Amino acid sequence: MSPEGLRDLAAARSAWKSLVAINLGAPRSTSPAWSATPLPTLSNIGALSGASAFLGLDAHRLLHNDSAPTMLEASDGNWGAAQAALGAPSLSASLASLAAAFDQHLAPARRQPRTRLEHWRAWSLVLTWAIARRCLPRVLPMDQETIKALTWDLVSFCVTSSRIEAVWAAIQARHRRFGVTPPLNERNQYSTWARMLNTVRGRPLALKLPIQRSTVHWLLRWRPTGLAANRARLLTALATIACLRVSEVARLQVCDLWFDYLAEYGVPGFTGTCSVHIDRRKNDSERKGHHPALGRSRGCDTDIVRQLRAWMRLAGLSTATACRKRASPAARCPVCPPLFPLTVRSRGGATVATDRPCSRQQASDMIRWAVEQAGGGSGRFSGISARKGGISTAIAAKVDETILYLQSGHGQPLPARAYMHLHEPARFLETFEAFGL
Ligand SMILES: [Zn+2]
Repeated sequence: MSPEGLRDLAAARSAWKSLVAINLGAPRSTSPAWSATPLPTLSNIGALSGASAFLGLDAHRLLHNDSAPTMLEASDGNWGAAQAALGAPSLSASLASLAAAFDQHLAPARRQPRTRLEHWRAWSLVLTWAIARRCLPRVLPMDQETIKALTWDLVSFCVTSSRIEAVWAAIQARHRRFGVTPPLNERNQYSTWARMLNTVRGRPLALKLPIQRSTVHWLLRWRPTGLAANRARLLTALATIACLRVSEVARLQVCDLWFDYLAEYGVPGFTGTCSVHIDRRKNDSERKGHHPALGRSRGCDTDIVRQLRAWMRLAGLSTATACRKRASPAARCPVCPPLFPLTVRSRGGATVATDRPCSRQQASDMIRWAVEQAGGGSGRFSGISARKGGISTAIAAKVDETILYLQSGHGQPLPARAYMHLHEPARFLETFEAFGL
């Protein structure tokens, strides 16, 4: 965009904020806060229900925010105690109060908390827009004219296509949540609108590269001494070989490494292998678990299973005797430490592991850093590169798609897969074998 164009946009954004502030009529106690998005959006709109713009409107529906994890979700699979904390069943409860409890504690889990947060942010944008355009009564339910007008404003303010689609998705979701007909309700209308946008603007290239086989070899041969470098090196190698998402590798606990799990099939030759227990995956909504497997390497200097054991010794991590992971694999283990914990500098100056897991962002940063140490171009890799690298390597080695699915859980869940049980444990190792370690 030309410098004049950018100046015009900056002026429009500043004028937009003033317009919103005037139309909002915020109570004195709360002043509007802004998020730095192309179309300026009120970031604290949930706290502004007392503003005069909401007078006479159903503020509950407009400002309903269920993005925080519910108590049952926060229990992370240990739902028994969380359920007890919600109180004993009441024999005199009305149907309305039971249904309200369902809505509050269970219904939000139809979507992941992260998706709910994205919807809430996009919906905040819709409300901010409606305040500026003085059309709050027209957003829920929303008619075609309103969604067209909103979309044109988003296009004029140079909001990205993916962001515009996120706004549409949030509008549709809120309509469904309150049982009203969403504005894009004709068959395939949503995808037709998405295509319309992409036809005009094009899509940016997916720039992040997959991690290469040779990078995994390099990482497993590298012998740094520090805790942080070893953590980044092994986190990256493990996430790549096991086709993990950053969120998945970040939440692994030491008791998710199921050493010699394949040996339990009773077929000889599988000692020294390790299965990685992934208790929750995007399309494993039933929490049945996926178990990507790590085999033994030919050369002992690249043996990831041994190196993971050595990592646990180095960082002082071990599985607690009271561990209940195998008994209740769908629950987060309350007693074991994370596999890749955050580290702090102790008083003596040494770096030591804490009992806190790293965040998705931190895991992503570690992956980028590790690949750069191996010579990868900076800016071309991020957390997603690990999963991309694992799946790409397996596909290049012609691993059967069904087998790969058992490791990676990628793509759409197909009905037959729920019943698939492999008889031959060696097949679980095909993705690992593709790395030629
Ligand atoms: Zn445990």
